Amino acid sequence: MSTPQAPNSGTRAATNAATGAPRPPMISTADALATLLAAAQPLAQSETLSTFDALNRVLAVEVVSPLDVPPMNTSAMDGYAVRAADLHQGSRRLPVSQRIPAGHAPQPLAAGTAARIFTGATVPPGADAVVMQEQAEAGDGEVTILHTPKAGEWITAQGADIKKDSVILPVGTRLSPAALGLAASVGCATLTVTRRVKVAVFFTGDELTMPGEPLKPGSIYNSNRFTLTGLLRNLGCDVTDYGIVPDQLDATRATLREAAAQHDLILTSGGVSVGEEDHVRPAVEAEGHIGMWQIAMKPGKPLAFGAVRRGANEAGQAFFIGLPGNPVSSFVTFLLFVRPFLLRLAGVAHVSPRALSLRADFTQTKSDRRNEFLRARVNPAGGLDLFSNQSSAVLTSTVWGDGIIDNPPNHAISAGETVRFIPFTELLY
Ligand code: AMP
Ligand code: MG
Repeated sequence: MSTPQAPNSGTRAATNAATGAPRPPMISTADALATLLAAAQPLAQSETLSTFDALNRVLAVEVVSPLDVPPMNTSAMDGYAVRAADLHQGSRRLPVSQRIPAGHAPQPLAAGTAARIFTGATVPPGADAVVMQEQAEAGDGEVTILHTPKAGEWITAQGADIKKDSVILPVGTRLSPAALGLAASVGCATLTVTRRVKVAVFFTGDELTMPGEPLKPGSIYNSNRFTLTGLLRNLGCDVTDYGIVPDQLDATRATLREAAAQHDLILTSGGVSVGEEDHVRPAVEAEGHIGMWQIAMKPGKPLAFGAVRRGANEAGQAFFIGLPGNPVSSFVTFLLFVRPFLLRLAGVAHVSPRALSLRADFTQTKSDRRNEFLRARVNPAGGLDLFSNQSSAVLTSTVWGDGIIDNPPNHAISAGETVRFIPFTELLY
């Protein structure tokens, strides 16, 4: 995705050599993402939740602070509140005129005195510095100050963090634990967030068996069901999992119709490669429309994008995205395309993952004409190691790695070179 390039459908054979079927256009990762995001309008519906319940949700109404934070000048230390000028005049022994624990309102500080004060307590009017207790010697009703403070020392000024009436969390913010804390710091007990995106997911492939069942000859376990539903839940989606749908046109059409009624997006795994036992494409074509893309990326070439009509009594249509069945392909295409699409539907403003520039501690002599997404991990020296098997069927790479290298088309990698690395922490949530 680092190198946007024009769709190059004109440069490749337009038909599949084996079947003679029309070959979908080959497009770049950047073009595919741009097309998906252009279609994803943020959902209009919102709900108001307790701030406790808003974790990972997306703000639909900005948070404006009704107050300064901190609301008053506070002490940043346990010590003595003083007037700095009193100490500049030489007198280091001061009577202690009051004691101010946190949460108690102080009296104005009498000239020539000190106030015993604690962290978080209100600095009394008239005091302009706090001397930490380690720089003072307490006596009987008095204190000897061993330090000449500057005005403002160890005082957190009113409004130092947040000014009244300022926007502290804009619309489109995903609410992290830190963001909830910030909202709470201005007294926000409720937050208005976009409703959850409703996603239906199903899996195609007569070879698929569920864990817990014996594996028949020719079968494999349905790993994508766990990966994809986990990813959807991490993104805060409301997920309906239809499980394995038989490789049959009628069954696929019926599931699409049912799913379209109640969901914003229908996501499928498998059956979108060219020229194979594939009922997903004709089923979506019969129930709506579909565009097939061959994305110039590795892993993950085929991706289908379209929509399924809703019944006569319901408005509009549900989006449809068909992912390839290969476990690494569906994982990577989800991270690069489905994740930003879903976040945009949820109203998130910034949907691009932040990438790092890191040193490759390996050499990959063979370049690929496609944009490669290589599973890699950061080594103790701060460079990147590559997983030894980059096959799109080898799911181990996705757990071994802690991110993907976005390697542009036609580019070999030499050890020592700086590459674009997207950590999974930027992609899985
Ligand atoms: P397909 O995209 O249907 O051609 O599948 C490509 C490869 O991915 C085949 O080897 C399938 O067996 C495998 N595959 C398809 N769906 C799944 C799944 N849900 N879990 C694990 N592997 C799958
Ligand atoms: Mg299949």
